[in-house]
Amino acid sequence: MIPYGRQDISQSDIDAVIDVLHSDWLTQGPITPKFESAISTYVRAENAIAVNSATSALHISYLALDLGPGDILWTSPNTFVATANAALFCGAAVDFVDIDPLTYNISIPRLVEKLDLAILENRLPKIVVAVHFAGQSCDMESIHALSKKYGFRIIEDASHAIGGKYAGHSVGGCQYSDITIFSFHPVKIITTGEGGMAITNDAKLAARMRLFRSHGVSPNKDLRASNPSDEIWNYQQISLGWNYRLTDIQSALGLAQLERVDRFVNRRHEIAQKYHEALEKMAVIPPYQDSKTYSSFHLYPVRIRESLCGKDRRQVYDAMISSGVGVNVHYIPVYLHPYYQKNGFERGLCPEAELYFKETISLPIFPAMTVEQQEVVISSLNTALR
Ligand SMILES: *Cc1c(COP(=O)(O)O)cnc(C)c1O
Repeated sequence: MIPYGRQDISQSDIDAVIDVLHSDWLTQGPITPKFESAISTYVRAENAIAVNSATSALHISYLALDLGPGDILWTSPNTFVATANAALFCGAAVDFVDIDPLTYNISIPRLVEKLDLAILENRLPKIVVAVHFAGQSCDMESIHALSKKYGFRIIEDASHAIGGKYAGHSVGGCQYSDITIFSFHPVKIITTGEGGMAITNDAKLAARMRLFRSHGVSPNKDLRASNPSDEIWNYQQISLGWNYRLTDIQSALGLAQLERVDRFVNRRHEIAQKYHEALEKMAVIPPYQDSKTYSSFHLYPVRIRESLCGKDRRQVYDAMISSGVGVNVHYIPVYLHPYYQKNGFERGLCPEAELYFKETISLPIFPAMTVEQQEVVISSLNTALR
C-alpha cells in the first residue's frame, strides 16, 4: 500500500538520536533547548516551547490565554479533533465557523457574520484558532483585523504548515497571532515520533506555557512566591501543571529533521505540481492556492466531481484502496463525530464544510514518494473515476 504520508528518516537522523542515548541526559538535557532555539530562529520568533505533542501545545496555549469555564473558543470544523478537544480540556465551550469554499480554511465572511451575531447574544469567543489546512495559511491579516475590532485572541494551529509562508513570512513567526503551534507526528512535515511546539513573541505567555509543560514547577526565582524557605530550595510549584515535556531523544531527531525542512517542502511542491498537471483533464478539483501563501503541502486533497464522472467519493476511495493506494479523508467535520453529536451539535451547522467533506479525498504526498509511486496514484485515480 502506498501510504498517504510517511516520515523520511536519514542516517544522520539516526546518528543524532544514538548520540543522545550515549549522553548523560535522555530528557531535560541540552538538546531540547537547542531544538527550541533552532525552531525560533527558523520561523523568526522570540520563544519556542517544545512539548510531547501538538495536542499538548494547544492545551498549554489555551491555558496561557486563560481559557476556562464560561469561555468560548471558535475554530474551523475542517481540522483534526484535537484543535477543539483541547478547549474542552480547559472546561471551555467550542463552536465552529464554516470554511471558505476555495481554500477550505476558516471563511472570513462567515466569521464576520458569526461575530456580529455573537455580539448581540453576548457570546463572543475568547480565542479564535486559525487552522492552516493542508499547509496553506489562513487569511491572517483579516483575522488579525477582526481580533482588534471584536476583542479575541488568535492561535494558529500550524500542525500542517511548518515550512510554509504567508505574505513572505515563515508560518510560525506570529506576526498576526498570539501563539502558533506545530505538530511533529510522523505524517507531518518533520517528525520527532510524537511531539509539538508552541511559539510566541510574548515573553509572559512563554513563561506560562513553560510552567504548564512541567508540573507548574518553576526553577526561576522571579516567578516564585516570596517565602523564607526559598533560600534553601531551588524549585517551587506555583500553578497546576502537567508533564508535557519532549525528551532529548526526540529533540535530537527534530533538530536533524529541521535541517531538511526546506528540502522536504520543495519536494512536496514538485509532487503537487505533477498532480496539478496530471489532474487537469480529470473530474476532480485540485487544491486552490492563494497567491499570498506558500503551502507546505502536508496534504493534497482533491474533490470528486460526481456530476461529471458519475462516481461518488466512496466509490473512488474504495477503488483506490483496492488498487493499493492509501488515500485518506481530511476531515470529517469535527462536530459530526459521535462525541460532539452526543454533546448537542447538529448536522447543517457548517454547510460548506459538510459539502467539502462529502467530496474530498487526500492523495498520497510525502518527500520520499517515488516517481513510480506517483504514477501509480495518478493512473489509479484515472481508472477509479471512469
Ligand atoms: C496532527 C494535528 C494535531 C495534533 O497533533 P499531535 O501532534 O498528534 O497531537 C492538531 N491539529 C491538527 C490540524 C493536526 O493535523
